Amino acid sequence: QPLILWFRRDLRLSDHPMLAAAVASGRPLLPVFVLDAQAEALGAAAKWRLGLGLARFAETLAGMGQRLILRRGEALAVLQGLIAETGAAGVMWQRMYDPQAVARDTSVKAALKAQGLVAESFPGALLIEPWEVATGQGGFYKVYSPFWKAVSARGFAAPVPAVKALRAPQVWPASDNLDDWQMGAAMRRGAAVCLPHQRVGEEAALARLDEFIDSAVDRYKAERDFPGQIGATSGLSENLAWGEIGPRTIWAAGQRAMHQGDAGAEHFCKELVWREFAYHLMHHSPHILTRAWREEWDSFPWRGDNPQAEIWRHGMTGEPFVDAAMREMYVTGKMHNRARMIVASYLTKHLMTDWRLGQAWFADCLTDWDEASNAMGWQWVAGSGPDAAPYFRVFNPAGQAEKFDSDAAYRHHWIAELSLRPGAAALSYFDAVPKRWKLSPAQAYPAAMINLAEGRDKALAAYAARATTD
Ligand code: FAD
Repeated sequence: QPLILWFRRDLRLSDHPMLAAAVASGRPLLPVFVLDAQAEALGAAAKWRLGLGLARFAETLAGMGQRLILRRGEALAVLQGLIAETGAAGVMWQRMYDPQAVARDTSVKAALKAQGLVAESFPGALLIEPWEVATGQGGFYKVYSPFWKAVSARGFAAPVPAVKALRAPQVWPASDNLDDWQMGAAMRRGAAVCLPHQRVGEEAALARLDEFIDSAVDRYKAERDFPGQIGATSGLSENLAWGEIGPRTIWAAGQRAMHQGDAGAEHFCKELVWREFAYHLMHHSPHILTRAWREEWDSFPWRGDNPQAEIWRHGMTGEPFVDAAMREMYVTGKMHNRARMIVASYLTKHLMTDWRLGQAWFADCLTDWDEASNAMGWQWVAGSGPDAAPYFRVFNPAGQAEKFDSDAAYRHHWIAELSLRPGAAALSYFDAVPKRWKLSPAQAYPAAMINLAEGRDKALAAYAARATTD
């Protein structure tokens, strides 16, 4: 009897406890991906990037005499259908932690178990399960530093080795054709522009990690905040998002570098643990995804969608650091971390716009979209989250540009209108954006949409009024 391996955001062969356990069972294995409602609802760039990841993973499996069976529909019904077709003994999967996936997986597990079938879930997406660490009082951590102290003192399980061979079943069930799923449909013109910026699959992810550890981790702490420094950060968020690399592999590489005396390695490990913290928070307070984490901020008079927010989306605010970042995201599917903080601060503070609109735009544009990190990042900047920047912390995009992009390399790289001879990256933005936005590199770069000092004062006044009525 074969076992069904239900792949979701875990498209890899190494550092994969579920896969190791499945191989150890000695059974024939049937890898499956189900395009269910949750996967259908991914943002444009994320869904497209998932499609690329699935294609690459299917190729890897084919190279081992295996297949990735693709099916569309409600997960439990699809899995039960496959069990009926193949006589499988049951299903194994790597856990996901967002509330929608947890609800789905819980009901799948209950239904399969009620039928007397194997239904087993495994760790592997995180260094540590979100419930495995608690404060001295038995609660969960709301502040990063003590969380870091607690988890780093504990250490993490070592990555399990890559599986070398997967036993194939004698008969394969039918599979959908990936092209028919049209995973890139919502990307339209953006797909061709964005494609060269993706490094897809496990092999690419492991190479990326090696390159980063060999040539950049040493200067990570010093350079990670400067968006013009190409290659100063690992770029691994894209691969982590789709499980093309396991976090324990990254942690182990970071620790080895640290013990060899690479200056930035500990800082790199600390950043990786911010991702853990995001999952810890989402597990214990899932409302972080949809509502102000601090209840008192729920009634803050954020503006709903508005024309200035739309100009922000278009990268046409006239604030060069903000626009460079928004264009970087549109073209590459990613945005530098410092830039994420600056554009989020500009939207939520200078434009007083609801952080959820920014969160949703990121969800639509990012190929490294991660529900937990995205929500935590937005709430941190807005001031409504746990361990958040205090409300009076308003990033000044002009000051930030002077400090973190003093030679304007980042701004010139992404804003064609600022250069006499703009580069390919800056120009490609105009090939990617929808024609209805009516943007052209020939038009003049806009004057600043708002006066930064006035915007800041307005935001501070509103925040202060809010604070005194609490
Ligand atoms: P590196 O600097 O090389 O760091 C290594 C890894 O550590 C990253 O790949 C990531 O997994 C983790 N990490 C680093 N910084 C953070 C952080 N602040 N929070 C959580 N994990 C972190 N990250 C996403 O992966 N997906 C998102 O959708 C996302 N949305 C964000 C939205 C906002 C408003 C903000 C402020 C941050 C967001 N982040 C998100 C976090 C961070 O910006 C990215 O993880 C980082 O830029 C990825 O680049 P890298 O892989 O080169 O990171």
